[in-house]
Amino acid sequence: MSYRPRHFILQELVGPQLYAACANNPDYLWRKLNARILEAADIVRGFYGVPVIINNWHNGGRFKESGLRDMNTTTGAKLSAHKFGLALDLKLNVPIAKIHEDIKSNRLPIRFYECVNVVEINTPTWLHVAFENHMKGGIMWVRG
Ligand SMILES: [Zn+2]
Repeated sequence: MSYRPRHFILQELVGPQLYAACANNPDYLWRKLNARILEAADIVRGFYGVPVIINNWHNGGRFKESGLRDMNTTTGAKLSAHKFGLALDLKLNVPIAKIHEDIKSNRLPIRFYECVNVVEINTPTWLHVAFENHMKGGIMWVRG
């Protein structure tokens, strides 16, 4: 299964260095992004119906590590899911506590729960969603 988001371009999903390094082969970068987590971003965008920011460096914004991260970055955990293309940090104008409550109460489209199985709990201004290979069933709520 592959997935190309309806609402997001590649620059929003990778940082400027990775983007530049693969400028003549963007498909190679797309292959590094987990299909389910890309679909999850579209689902959140569609469900809340408001703009969702992931990276915005290409528009002069400050976010460049909210999608796939460089392996040598000092941001986040050493083996962060971001470094493996398995996680996205979504910023949208909805209180994060409300989004977490919606997720816990199964209010999102059912497909969301097939695309996301890790959510970080201590993220004040963003929603960290990931798809990891764990066996716990349902969503694992973790500290970032
Ligand atoms: Zn994150």
